Parts: sequence; C-alpha cells; structure tokens
Amino acid sequence: MPEPLHDASLPVLVSIVAAFFGLLTMGNVVLGFVMERIVPKRKIFAVPLAHGQLGFELTGNLVFLAVAVVTFTAALSSGVIRFGEDSVLRSLATFAALLLGFQVFYYFLHRAMHTRPLLWMHRWHHRSQVTTALSAQSMSVFEALAWMLGYVGLPLAFSLVVPIGFWGYVAYMVFNVSGNIVGHANVELAGAASATRAATLFANPWVFHALHHARWTGHYGFQAALMDRLGGTEFGDWPALYQRVAAGKPLESLKVRGE
Ligand SMILES: [Zn+2]
Ligand SMILES: [Zn+2]
Repeated sequence: MPEPLHDASLPVLVSIVAAFFGLLTMGNVVLGFVMERIVPKRKIFAVPLAHGQLGFELTGNLVFLAVAVVTFTAALSSGVIRFGEDSVLRSLATFAALLLGFQVFYYFLHRAMHTRPLLWMHRWHHRSQVTTALSAQSMSVFEALAWMLGYVGLPLAFSLVVPIGFWGYVAYMVFNVSGNIVGHANVELAGAASATRAATLFANPWVFHALHHARWTGHYGFQAALMDRLGGTEFGDWPALYQRVAAGKPLESLKVRGE
C-alpha cells in the first residue's frame, strides 16, 4: 500500500475511500444514462421503468456505498490484507486472479440468493425489472455485505497465499464497479464481434443481464457467460434477442422469447 495511504489518519482514509467509490459511481452512472441517450437505436427494453424506480435505486446506491466505505476503510486501516512490493507482474497477477475469482464467487453467491431461504436479501436488486445504470448498486444492506465478501474477502484470502499488488487491486475495483454500473444501462453497446459464443466467455453483451432482471431465473454470472455456460444456466435464446436489439428493434415485453 502506498505510504501516504498507510500513514493516513482515519478521517483522511474514510475521505479517500468515500471519494473513490463516490466519484467512480457518479461518473459511471452519468456515463450509463448518457449512453442510453446518445445510442437510442440500441435500447434493449422498450418497457417503462416502475413507478418511483430511480428513487429507490438511489436509496439502494447510498446503502451500498455506505457499506463499501465502512468495509474498505476497516480493511485498509487494520492492515489485514497483505500487500506486496509494487511490481507490474504482481499487479497483473492480482487483476487476473480477481477477474476470475470474482466471477466464480459472484455466480455462487447469486445462485444462492435465488434460493428460497436467501431470496429476501436479493429482492431489492430485482425491484428493477428494466434496468438503469442506477440498478447495479441498488440492493439491500444484506446483499451489499455479501458483495463485500467478494470485494474485500476475496483479495484478503488471496493475500494470505501470496501478497497482492495494491494497484492491481485498485484497477480491478475500477473495472468491476464501472462494468457493473454501465452494464446495467438499458442499451446494447456490444458490437457483433463481441456477441459470439467464444467472445462471451470473456465479456457478455448488455442484453445478457437485462434478461436476468426480466426473467428472474438464469444468467447468474458477472461480466461473462463463462460460469453460466459451465453451470447450465445460460438462456438459449439470447443470441436471437441480441440480434433483434442490435437491428434497432427493442424488446417490447419482459416476457419476450427469441427463436
Ligand atoms: Zn438476481
Ligand atoms: Zn443486476
């Protein structure tokens, strides 16, 4: 961890962490809404938002940010995560380990939250049936705490094996939060080349998670189709629906099915 952060007083550390998550969230939420505006021909669902949706999503975001700021400040100030000496290799390895590790972690957490005993903690996130950039971090305090197991618990666990790179960790968090927020915008930004079976092993198109919100069951993965393909939870008709959206024909109903 860089010296100034290591030596920072608690109020300064809280401010830095709050500024990091606050600005990252605001910037990407604005970007998500701007993309919906400037690429109207790529709208995914031509279905209106629920009454008061942006209001409850904003509340959910504030809950998520509060949990994130407290958790990250506690983790950084206590020194529980072992950071190694900075090197490009360490940062790249940290980024790669988190990229894969978070996908596995989130898939199983998400599937668990869709079982009857845990659904209560995930209901808030699913109040958004048609999603916006604000839907991503709109969740209950209980789900936000579960996310912290991936955001802080996972790097902590990795660091027990080998010290992780601070900047690789920061870069992955920027990637994760940005992808999550912009990835919930109601607009398909993936080009045809990135909507193939092979490419979606690394990153799924926007319609992928939009269908999870519309249908509830299936597509539990984060960022890529990899885990859904392994777990047999991938919808067979998403490529057809992607084609429809990419051709400028938004989906008119949450119950829509592709051929
Ligand atoms: Zn879900
Ligand atoms: Zn979602």
